[in-house]
Amino acid sequence: MSITYRKLVEFISELYDISNRTIPKDVKESLKSALSRERNPLAKKILEMMLKSAEVAEKERLIICQDTGIPQFFVKVGTKFPYDIDLESAIKEGIEKITKEAYYRGIAAHPLTHVRSSTNTGERMPIITYEFLHDAKYLEITAVPKGSGSERWSALKMFDPYDVIKDIKKFVLDSFINAGSRPCPPVIIGVGIGGTFDYVAKLAKEAAIRPLNKRNPDPNVAKLEMELLDAINETGIGPMGLGGDTSALGVNIETAYTSAVWNPVAVNFQCWPGRRATGRIYSDGYVEYL
Ligand code: SF4
Repeated sequence: MSITYRKLVEFISELYDISNRTIPKDVKESLKSALSRERNPLAKKILEMMLKSAEVAEKERLIICQDTGIPQFFVKVGTKFPYDIDLESAIKEGIEKITKEAYYRGIAAHPLTHVRSSTNTGERMPIITYEFLHDAKYLEITAVPKGSGSERWSALKMFDPYDVIKDIKKFVLDSFINAGSRPCPPVIIGVGIGGTFDYVAKLAKEAAIRPLNKRNPDPNVAKLEMELLDAINETGIGPMGLGGDTSALGVNIETAYTSAVWNPVAVNFQCWPGRRATGRIYSDGYVEYL
């Protein structure tokens, strides 16, 4: 058997559905460990409710949040995967299918008129980014539903290259405080540092969807991740902004070389369910969810 257009549509539709109904394992583990450390009784209760919601959503095949978001896909294309399939159309059709079948909220809209398409598709929607995987016979796709809280409070700033660490810490902390309860904390914070104006936002996004149990391989960056996490949790904003020790589950940073005369920094959030799902589809049609 080999991969077909229909098979790809089914895969996309199922993957997006999983991302809306299942909390990633690392996020669940992180919520559990936050619960065991949390000292505020109300915060404890909220964390327990979040874990219970995740359990019920998974068992009953319910969506975790009513805001099923706008669809974003990170696609890794194996260089041995057949290119003659119209991948972009298959992704669009997969989203239209699941939006209709599962009664997802149609939130994608025209940027000027704000008229909704009702299908969660439209011009350049879903948002898709591509990279290549040398020698692989599969497509690896991460589906990320971006609800309003997880995108609306994102921030980007071009800095001068002085006092970089101090500036970055202040910017990330200020961005988090400005967002407050609106991205439904405890959040996962993705930070991009370096590159260019456009690339730094992509880095922040990639950081926000990196599993919570993986630190940046550069020890200096990993140290900054931990320092920022401590600083954010010290704000006391807590689960759903109602106070407590757990304001964030993690801070992930991705970096790229940049110019010696300026330095961009971007911040993106994932709200408490940390919604994302990754799957692979092989050139023979075999599918696996990671
Ligand atoms: S921020 Fe996230 S969890 Fe909160 S309402 Fe929006 S999509 Fe749902």
